Amino acid sequence: MSFDFIQLANPGVRHIKPYQPGKPIDELRRELGISDIIKLASNENPLGPSPKALIAVQQVIRDFNLYPDGSGYELKQALAAKLAITPQQLTLGNGSDNLLAMVIQAFVAPGGEVIISQYAFATFAIATLANHGTPAIIPTRDWQCDLDAMLAAINSNTRAIFIANPNNPTGTWLNKQDLLAFLQKLPESVLLVLDEAYYEYVDNADFPDSIALQRQFPNLIITRTFSKAYGLAGLRIGYSITVPAIADILNRVRLPFNVSVPALAAAQAALADEQHVQLSLDNNKLGMQQLTFALAQLGLKVLPSVGNFFSLDLAREAQPIYQQLLNKGIIVRPLLPYGMPNHLRITIGTEPQNKRLIDALTDILKVIEF
Ligand SMILES: *Cc1c(COP(=O)(O)O)cnc(C)c1O
Repeated sequence: MSFDFIQLANPGVRHIKPYQPGKPIDELRRELGISDIIKLASNENPLGPSPKALIAVQQVIRDFNLYPDGSGYELKQALAAKLAITPQQLTLGNGSDNLLAMVIQAFVAPGGEVIISQYAFATFAIATLANHGTPAIIPTRDWQCDLDAMLAAINSNTRAIFIANPNNPTGTWLNKQDLLAFLQKLPESVLLVLDEAYYEYVDNADFPDSIALQRQFPNLIITRTFSKAYGLAGLRIGYSITVPAIADILNRVRLPFNVSVPALAAAQAALADEQHVQLSLDNNKLGMQQLTFALAQLGLKVLPSVGNFFSLDLAREAQPIYQQLLNKGIIVRPLLPYGMPNHLRITIGTEPQNKRLIDALTDILKVIEF
């Protein structure tokens, strides 16, 4: 019998269910031997990266033998100017996932609790367990975070609360008034991590201005990413906005060269390419209308979302429909791992991609009895 290494693993690690990413295009290609595949599964930007980011990467390829600037000086200057904050408030991460983990590493000791909502982004619980913390999962109300229950769950072990705004996979979001009231009741010793991965897509007047709130509530940590609207998911770069004292602490656990040379260059160019971001937002808005209209015609409901994705309620087990979509070369995201067996999460694509999805679903549903 071979040694059972799971006994060696840290207790929290033993309980982790590994993150299940959207199926990569190449994997489906190998499985089915088909080439015309679209992926609407990981909330990636269907327009691709900014052309300016591609040029910026080409300009640094000769520097690939050199370590990156570990402080990210130039990108921080550009971000600070754009966001009207100071560079001392910024920490760069290998994707914003990296920052979520750094917050837990820095602030949650064994036995420390992290309050997370049911249906919250899976990384929150994984990063908590991986760093010896204990997730406290609070049931939602009508898919929304139950903010009162989250406050009521705070005890002397509570170190942080994680909320994605908007949340993935539900697409639900917290408005200005509710977030303000929540922060007013939150003890200063409990951190609120607001994961704003989809910030650029949100176009609602009552969406919170989290940077303004941070001036009043220094225990607020904001994370954002270049993976979604900026179209750089493959390069892995995100950032946090915190008070400088928290940035100083995060910098102590940050591994020295956590963001690569091409990621830094591409992010800086993508940030400056406002036209590409605008095109991406316009495509998203039209695609959201196209898809929600067509799905309603099919008699299907979606959870209202302000991101570049939504969860489709099939009112029946979603897994067989996921499989049939795969057979037609369309990758979406089953939500069984989130405890949502009847839902599929769908990323808004380009107009022809969206049409292909609708046509495929129409075909599939024709032969299914409701
Ligand atoms: C996609 C996503 C992220 C982004 O992760 P990166 O590590 O920046 O690619 C973070 N939070 C949520 C809720 C997401 O959906």
